[in-house]
Amino acid sequence: MDKQQYFIDIHCHLFTAADIPLYQLAKRLHRKAQHPLRLFMAPAAIALLSVKKFREFIQFFESEPKQNVLRVTGQLKDSLEQLGVEAERVIMTPLIMDFDAGGKVDKLLPQVERLVAASKYAEGVTILPFVGIDPRRLLTTGSMASAGSDGDQRAVSPATVRKRWKEFLDVNLVKGIGARGGWGQLGKKIRSGHLVGVKLYPPLGFDVLPQQDLRLRDCHLEIYRELAHRKLPVTVHCQENSFELASSHQVAMDFTKPGNWRQVLEFSSQLSQLRLNFGHFGGDIGTKMVVPMRNRGEMEDFEDWVAPKKPRAKGWTYEIVAMLKQYPNTYADISAFAFQDKVAAAALMWLLAFDENGFFDQDGASNYKLQDKLMWGSDYPMILPNFPNYHSYLRAFRQTIRQNQRRFASFEMPPQWREPDAVRVGGPSPSGQSEVALGVRNHAAGRRRKGRNKQSWQPLPSAAELFQKLTCENPRRFLFE
Ligand SMILES: [Zn+2]
Repeated sequence: MDKQQYFIDIHCHLFTAADIPLYQLAKRLHRKAQHPLRLFMAPAAIALLSVKKFREFIQFFESEPKQNVLRVTGQLKDSLEQLGVEAERVIMTPLIMDFDAGGKVDKLLPQVERLVAASKYAEGVTILPFVGIDPRRLLTTGSMASAGSDGDQRAVSPATVRKRWKEFLDVNLVKGIGARGGWGQLGKKIRSGHLVGVKLYPPLGFDVLPQQDLRLRDCHLEIYRELAHRKLPVTVHCQENSFELASSHQVAMDFTKPGNWRQVLEFSSQLSQLRLNFGHFGGDIGTKMVVPMRNRGEMEDFEDWVAPKKPRAKGWTYEIVAMLKQYPNTYADISAFAFQDKVAAAALMWLLAFDENGFFDQDGASNYKLQDKLMWGSDYPMILPNFPNYHSYLRAFRQTIRQNQRRFASFEMPPQWREPDAVRVGGPSPSGQSEVALGVRNHAAGRRRKGRNKQSWQPLPSAAELFQKLTCENPRRFLFE
């Protein structure tokens, strides 16, 4: 049994079909938006309903919130038992999405109410949701309840936005773990259904930091200032695959890109302390861009895959890495990562190994380690089209960090590799000839390299230690230091 204080899933969802305004989807969803929620766009839904792999996913959305809470918490508890992970407290932070702005519906607050009520049925798991907010909700001239595209955004002053935002947080009882008395209150003053953070989803159609209209920019800054002031954890969607309701795919990408958040963090010393989680860590696409695994032969043969000698400073994941190294309260979750894609899984581990060896260090930065910044998230139920249940997904993650890349074609490992105490990652050698493929525990090769390498390659911590950091220590710090 691996014992840990907490097991935290920092990124999952518990919404149901009732929470998604179908009117908006039918109107605006883009063909290029590769996201499971795309399913709810009418024509696509009809085509996909017959596809077996979407059955679980659709059932989840058709269920009542209470059923979903029982289903996901049950699956998580089963999974931990099967994997032999014993946690004193199991926590999920489902993220609510504000689908309303720009539409003519108001489903956010009923969605919050339904989830808060359903959370109370969770047994053995504490459910602490993050409330979603589309800033446009606070920017219109009308009342908050009638947020929409009809209001005149210019008429609202930054001070009014700040006031409305404070009211919104207070009325909905959004309070971080710290403001609720700290971790010692878990199970006492802190119970399932308490909102402990905020979720922002720019591809729904808002710019993180508008550049053209300074008043609008200041309105957004006020929102972030209040979050920094309250030390509230904020999860922002940050990968190229999104559920998009912006006017075009390109606009959605421009709104969502990580560089926008760098501008927020750089804006003032107060904002540099923002407690920010980059959801999805730029995705597996971004990870593969930083660590492009090369193939020297047949795709399926593990021995044919090699990592580059050094990572590339390119793409969204790289930009996120650079911020994680620099800003103390920034984190990233690896939710919805394609662990079924062995090349992506290998690239993720190589990225950690490169970081351990200083490849991402910057002059003048604190250079926090990525292993202290990445967090476990499932993105359940979005993973259901690719994984039958929570357990298969969590197991794929653990197998990945156990260096189960010996065979890319399968997650099945030969028994001698199954329960390694401390799995080490081999490093890239100075000569391309003897590059070591990920997961090959070739100690002899490691020793040989040492002789030739001036700088010896630092191994990653053990798999058990990494698992504990990502599922317990890092999300615990993100939620409350
Ligand atoms: Zn998500």
